Amino acid sequence: MAKVALVTGGSRGIGAAISVALKAAGYEVAANYAGNDEAAAAFTAETGIPTYKWSVADYDACVEGIRRVEADLGPISVLVNNAGITRDAMFHKMTPQQWKEVVDTNLTGLFNMTHPVWNGMRDRKFGRVINISSINGQKGQAGQANYSAAKAGDLGFTKALAQEGARAGITVNAICPGYIGTEMVRAIDEKVLNERIIPQIPVGRLGEPEEIARCVVFLAADDAGFITGATISANGGQFFV
Ligand code: NDP
Repeated sequence: MAKVALVTGGSRGIGAAISVALKAAGYEVAANYAGNDEAAAAFTAETGIPTYKWSVADYDACVEGIRRVEADLGPISVLVNNAGITRDAMFHKMTPQQWKEVVDTNLTGLFNMTHPVWNGMRDRKFGRVINISSINGQKGQAGQANYSAAKAGDLGFTKALAQEGARAGITVNAICPGYIGTEMVRAIDEKVLNERIIPQIPVGRLGEPEEIARCVVFLAADDAGFITGATISANGGQFFV
């Protein structure tokens, strides 16, 4: 029977590419999203992948959402924590709300989603948790103290949980994308993108969502069991750890 994979923020951007790639690799895929019903409906119509709406920032909603997915498709073997937001501001202008929204979604969201699936993975002696962090969690980024802190936290979470899951057949890994051409990045002023951002990327272009999806499929595989606690940097050579 096909393994079930759940992708948070799986209906748009990088998450959509991940959902599609996992489906193509033979998984039964569920894509979660937060509020963009129109994008989710279009995604399901195009791909046949069911979408489920709840916020990863809300623990109770995650428990209930995961219950629905498991009732429909079966136990979750692969969890991709991809949902993420930005609320950029220089620190002297950053509001407590901007801080909280980003940390609640991009960091606490990983606890909220992983905790309800963890015991099931332990019982079944198999699990793959793949966390989409960011280059800006590795190097820090001006204007993104909230985002950089949350994404760096994702890496600590990954390494700690990898140690806890290892004996139970659960791997926990992170991917740190550089600039990928999704709506999140295309929202950046075009002049800033072309004159300041792309010239910093040695390969000379933005990454494609499918290039991140390929890393996820690799880490999700049954025979990737010796890779855990790892961080894959996929950033066009922009930053080396
Ligand atoms: P997009 O803005 O294109 O898509 C974000 C997705 O996350 C949407 O499906 C959105 O749902 C969902 N989402 C947002 N908040 C929540 C929430 N609280 N609960 C559930 N789902 C939520 O983002 P990207 O594809 O660009 O980014 C995906 C991930 O990759 C993020 O974690 C991001 O930080 C990371 N990343 C992206 C980079 C890039 O260059 N794009 C670079 C490095 C990291 P809805 O459609 O309902 O709004």
